[in-house]
Amino acid sequence: MKTAVIGGGAAGFFLAINLKEMCPEMEVTIFEQGTRVLRKVEVSGGGRCNCTNAFASVRDLQAVYPRGHRLMKRLFCTFDYRDSYRWFEQHGVRLVTQEDECVFPASQDAHTIINCFLSEARRHGITIRTGARIETLGQLDGYDYIAVTTGGMSRAPLFDMPPSLFIPPVPSLFTFRIDDTALQALMGTVVEQASAAIPGTKLRAEGPLLITHWGMSGPAILRLSSYAARLLADSAYKLPLAVNWTHHKEAEVAEELLGAIRRYPQRQLSSVRPFALPGRLWSYLTEKALGQRAQSPWGSLNRKELNRLTNTLCNDGYQIAGRAPFKDEFVTCGGVSLSAVNPNTLEAKATPGLYFAGEVLDIDGVTGGFNFQAAWTTAYTVAKAISARK
Ligand SMILES: Cc1cc2nc3c(=O)[nH]c(=O)nc-3n(C[C@H](O)[C@H](O)[C@H](O)COP(=O)(O)OP(=O)(O)OC[C@H]3O[C@@H](n4cnc5c(N)ncnc54)[C@H](O)[C@@H]3O)c2cc1C
Repeated sequence: MKTAVIGGGAAGFFLAINLKEMCPEMEVTIFEQGTRVLRKVEVSGGGRCNCTNAFASVRDLQAVYPRGHRLMKRLFCTFDYRDSYRWFEQHGVRLVTQEDECVFPASQDAHTIINCFLSEARRHGITIRTGARIETLGQLDGYDYIAVTTGGMSRAPLFDMPPSLFIPPVPSLFTFRIDDTALQALMGTVVEQASAAIPGTKLRAEGPLLITHWGMSGPAILRLSSYAARLLADSAYKLPLAVNWTHHKEAEVAEELLGAIRRYPQRQLSSVRPFALPGRLWSYLTEKALGQRAQSPWGSLNRKELNRLTNTLCNDGYQIAGRAPFKDEFVTCGGVSLSAVNPNTLEAKATPGLYFAGEVLDIDGVTGGFNFQAAWTTAYTVAKAISARK
């Protein structure tokens, strides 16, 4: 029996190796269009490869897999983050879990994973053909099974797939350009607990927020870009944005400001910073809310000014002017529709023997190792499904 794996990336290698482990007599060939395999693994996580996540604080898979969370939940019954962790350790890659729950090779070097995959592929006699772009399935006559692991940004229609089953890919995980020079002047400012939202929608993300020389970045923004990937693409990356710099509800913020008025009536607004906001950001926000009155003592604030300041802290409005590339992680949302595949095996419903794994599927995660986890889980699922059929 012969299996062709199209794409020599994370999912392709994981699938091929697991298939050989389950089914040693299977002939497995990886076809890679480029001259080198595993190129994304090499650059992932800033060269360290954030290969999975401990998932300890993940309460709802939708928060980390904006697309594909239901399928991921189902497939985790077969192969989840604990299985990935075990798999790598059993194959000689020692892992470490950071405080933020991201998992990396203990070597802090993505090459440890690449070397593991290459030596396992060699050990199992997997054929790797580089410079071999597959354009049509007709090129693979003679193969019993075909696994497509071509990654994101594939053109539609993919191979012989009807265009209706291919969701046009758009980028996910990017930072926002905001053409506001006063904001950009605060570049380098980090707020550890902020939230960002698209007004008029339920799209909202929390976490650290970083002000950059082009606008905003940091985990809260990257998450929001992922949740709103399709909406942002449809709006040509021009949408309003609301930031809550305090991570508290309006009533709590108003209460905190009233407390400052009571406790420090004589002190200047600039000398008492609620929520430990960075000094430059606090000055910017008070000036934005109060203009000249930002130079006044706390005790002189009237009710209207208090409301304006509360609103600026909790609901600070901006206009997203475009997308700025994020260098560390970049994935696509879209790809092969999940309705086109059997959810237990990832086999194309319309084409028996044709399977999909990795980012080519319409599954994508936020930053933190969730995308590689999706690649391992889907690749393992396909390996298991093929080995069960042989
Ligand atoms: C800079 C960067 C950093 C990242 N860091 C992280 C991280 O730390 N943690 C994380 O979880 N995720 C990270 N990601 C996302 C992660 O890399 C991807 O989700 C993952 O690589 C997807 O694996 P894949 O095998 O599905 O696709 P890919 O890794 O993209 O592999 C697909 C392969 O298929 C080949 N191919 C495509 N079409 C054809 C064809 N027709 N014929 C033959 N070959 C073909 C491609 O050349 C490619 O080698 C990062 C992504 C980028 C770009």
